[in-house]
Amino acid sequence: MKITNVKAIYPRWQNLPPRPGETAKTGVWQSHFWQIVVRVDSDTGATGFGYGGGGIPGTIIVNEHLRELLIGRHVESIDDIREIWDMLYFKSIPYGRKGIPVMALSGIDLALWDLLGKQNNKPVYDLLGGIQKPNVRAYASTRDFERDCEAGFTAMKFSHRWTGQESDYDATIELANRARDIFGANALIMTDCYMSWDSEVTLEMARLLSEYNLYWFEDVLTPDNLDQMASLKPNIKPVLLAGGEHEFTHHGFGALAKAGSLDVWQPDITWCGGITAGLRILEIAHRFGVSVVPHRGGEIWALHLIVASECENLAETHPDRWQTPIDNLWTDEPYPVGGYIAPSDRPGFGVTLNESML
Ligand SMILES: [Mg+2]
Repeated sequence: MKITNVKAIYPRWQNLPPRPGETAKTGVWQSHFWQIVVRVDSDTGATGFGYGGGGIPGTIIVNEHLRELLIGRHVESIDDIREIWDMLYFKSIPYGRKGIPVMALSGIDLALWDLLGKQNNKPVYDLLGGIQKPNVRAYASTRDFERDCEAGFTAMKFSHRWTGQESDYDATIELANRARDIFGANALIMTDCYMSWDSEVTLEMARLLSEYNLYWFEDVLTPDNLDQMASLKPNIKPVLLAGGEHEFTHHGFGALAKAGSLDVWQPDITWCGGITAGLRILEIAHRFGVSVVPHRGGEIWALHLIVASECENLAETHPDRWQTPIDNLWTDEPYPVGGYIAPSDRPGFGVTLNESML
């Protein structure tokens, strides 16, 4: 099967509710993470769709540079996809290696996996060796604890931002207390502070929150603080240190492994280099005894990898976003039922692009 065309498109997102203190423009990033669609056509008539990042700059990288490197390439196997990935990564090194170029590459990679699946009439998880976990435990990244407990979630994550006030400790304790109270003693409860703590705050939080038995602290420092995270890690036990949604490729995660920075890696499969990078990241994680829980793992792109790999049996979902109105870019995406989520057995990723949003 030969690639005949490649096109990246920034969807016309309709619902861009800015959060408090944000303009509609920054809300674009927060609501839709600057996600892009990549379409790959082939000479067999099969078409693959992928989901990448990087917004309009990401589409320019695909359409003005990577596209011409792809046309005419053959895709018959996973090895072919791997070779293409390496070629695109190499060709984009002068401006790439991390960030938007790799987010754009992720969209291409996922489109190739979708294409290969469709051509062979197989879901992507079968290309990856088949299902190891038929049902994945979903966790709710949520603000509405009651609603999601009632919906059957037994795992949840609450967000918190440190603003520099002493009262932030109390506010966090209050959230942890309420989460534990509502979800019960056996629930997995995590917190994400989106890089707003420092080492001192992290240690104090570990002490103050110990009675709530949290599973992990996520994104405590900015991702370049590899050594600081490594020295925090043993000092917050039994809480695990999680992060990695802002890290890219097996090279980036290799550096995290070497520094011993985190207990739980959270690569975003639509940003870190797609399934191809995800597999390589998993190999390193296996060697270093790190667990992998992809960022937004309940979205279909990571979900196929989770069910067919050594990823932990845990997938992040965002029930707050399913409240109307919502942009349904991909129809037929699975939603959790009773706290569990599973991909369909349709070919490729099994979702259909809503073309009215292009
Ligand atoms: Mg996060």
